[in-house]
Amino acid sequence: MLSDRFGRIHDYLRISVTDRCNLRCLYCMPEEGMEFADSSELLSYDAIVEVVEAAAELGFRRLRITGGEPLVRPDLDGLIRRLKAIEGIEEISLTTNGMLLAKQAAALRQAGLDRVNISLDTLDASRFRLIARRGGLEQVMAGIRAAGEAGLGPIKLNCVLLKGINEDEIKSFLRLSLDQPLHVRFIEYMPIGHADEQWRKTYLPLTSVMEAARELGLPMSPLERLEGNGPSENWTFDGAAGSFGLIHPVSDRFCTSCNRLRLTADGNLQPCLYWVDELNVKPALGSREAIKELFLRAGAIKPENHEMAAKLHDESISHTPTARRMSQIGG
Ligand code: SAM
Ligand code: SF4
Repeated sequence: MLSDRFGRIHDYLRISVTDRCNLRCLYCMPEEGMEFADSSELLSYDAIVEVVEAAAELGFRRLRITGGEPLVRPDLDGLIRRLKAIEGIEEISLTTNGMLLAKQAAALRQAGLDRVNISLDTLDASRFRLIARRGGLEQVMAGIRAAGEAGLGPIKLNCVLLKGINEDEIKSFLRLSLDQPLHVRFIEYMPIGHADEQWRKTYLPLTSVMEAARELGLPMSPLERLEGNGPSENWTFDGAAGSFGLIHPVSDRFCTSCNRLRLTADGNLQPCLYWVDELNVKPALGSREAIKELFLRAGAIKPENHEMAAKLHDESISHTPTARRMSQIGG
């Protein structure tokens, strides 16, 4: 078991398989000028399997594959099949923008993928172009349908709320959960690795979600928070097929229950998504013990919490934030 200095048990590894993406969401990547890792710098699938074998020996049970956009990396189903076969790995999920999911959902399910989170910030095609800086709403919708048909549920929809951009769609997203088994997760825009000014202009605390839910006038109930099941606070409208949840990393720190480490596509273990510290796994490849040692070190240097909220109040922070963009971390 990997327990850190604060007694948090880590059993969840988020693995980014690429920093490339077929969209350019404005909260994640710049429109132009992004420098991508050369394919030779990415961890090979063999290397990822080796790292996960070591992690599984330390008690890691759940994996999430992310990116960049993970479905742009060829043969992802092959990787998932290999990871699922590792002793101790119980669940594999995927975070995707859904653009390529319609084509791949069935193969991913067959390979052993358990479920997907699909990112969707708007239900309006022209607004999709504004946020993602590319078209593709129809493709994403087809991806959501295909994921349902392939049995990749419960399907979560990740919706980053942006002030003045999609806040008027909260009720439409809430209604999605009424008659479809979709679990909408509203997420606060995090100030990770890029222009503060844009974040300050568009960050929206999630209080408006509960206001919108109440305005719908439908009876609703809180869902029990499941241990190890992520930082979201979940609700359902009575009798609804799906649910909605709030993830507020900025306004309400969720670090006390953090159970995850992150592995970047270029092979760095990140103890916390906010801070600069990371450990390169490449020199440890070839030795199970050396990889395990790195995981233990990642646990040992993991900070108690991030300090994203400091930016809301213009307070100073205690350490150096990462310069990585979210697309280079994986969310
Ligand atoms: N491309 C995939 C996708 O969009 O689902 C996976 C990678 S993406 C970096 C993972 C998640 O991070 C997405 O749900 C995305 O909305 C979220 N994300 C990216 N930048 C963010 C930010 N600055 N604040 C909050 N969430 C962010
Ligand atoms: Fe790509 Fe996902 Fe970042 Fe959007 S959030 S630019 S889809 S990596």
